[in-house]
Amino acid sequence: MRIVLVGPPGAGKGTQAAFLAKNLSIPHISTGDLFRANISQGTELGKQAKSFMDAGQLVPDEVTIGMAKDRMEQPDAVNGFLLDGFPRNVSQAEALDVALKADDVKLDAVLDLEVPEDEVVKRIAGRRICRNDSSHVFHVEYSQPSTEGVCDACGGELYQRDDDKEETVRKRLEVYHTQTEPIIDYYREQGLVVTISALGKVEDVTKRAMEALGR
Ligand code: AMP
Repeated sequence: MRIVLVGPPGAGKGTQAAFLAKNLSIPHISTGDLFRANISQGTELGKQAKSFMDAGQLVPDEVTIGMAKDRMEQPDAVNGFLLDGFPRNVSQAEALDVALKADDVKLDAVLDLEVPEDEVVKRIAGRRICRNDSSHVFHVEYSQPSTEGVCDACGGELYQRDDDKEETVRKRLEVYHTQTEPIIDYYREQGLVVTISALGKVEDVTKRAMEALGR
């Protein structure tokens, strides 16, 4: 299956993507994770991305599209993938369509995670992520680790992403509304969008998502 996951920051895309990718046996491709890995490895691409990310803005398409395409061309993604955080504007969606068409394949679904805006801000401000694996996500209030600052899954250090600070979150939400939301209409015209509520327990949202994907 080839799936695109969309939703505002804080909708739980990363968490759901990890579970869904496992259930569907396809790789989870997150452009945000790819950028963060490049930043921690000190690559040129990481340097180009960092200032945009810290400001809550989109990294320019010239950098992002090439990186996403390279990842999709890896052998593990030949039979499908779950895209998390890409595409994030209409020109990226168009570039993805061109790349898929060149391989004579199509998207199966665009899963739209819906969550009210006040909930988004609460979720992100308290979010703490494991340095070893960004799918290990905790929350200072809703999902506390047994030891403060330590990941229950692997013992890694928990930290707050620089772009999860409140001011940046507001900027990211604005960017989501103006640049990313239009891709939902773009894909709706292709009959691909399934919308589910991202509220409630993680496992309930995963179940809802699997049902919406017909699994
Ligand atoms: P995420 O982990 O998906 O929330 O992404 C974190 C940040 O990485 C975003 O706020 C952007 O600055 C950047 N980013 C991730 N994916 C993209 C993309 N498809 N296009 C542009 N910037 C992106």
